[in-house]
Amino acid sequence: MNTKTTAYDYGECEICDTLMQKERIKQDFWLRGQLIVVEGVPVGVCPQCGEKVVKADVGLWITKLIEDSERIAKAPKISVPAIKFGAEELRV
Ligand SMILES: [Zn+2]
Repeated sequence: MNTKTTAYDYGECEICDTLMQKERIKQDFWLRGQLIVVEGVPVGVCPQCGEKVVKADVGLWITKLIEDSERIAKAPKISVPAIKFGAEELRV
């Protein structure tokens, strides 16, 4: 049995056929009106067009993480700017 973590090959971009690069990004999710940021998510990113690919098991793990309310409650909080649409000068 192979217990070594071998680097996942994201292959080529579906859109422009450029070789995908491995990156770790911050991904944000809205869950029941709450913004949750997951840091260090491993993804494949296309350097050409910016297309992102998430492995199925990474996606499943994220789903688990953001459903874990205990873990979320213990997580450090960040504050984000919240600006008003404020379109007084825009005729809508
Ligand atoms: Zn691409």
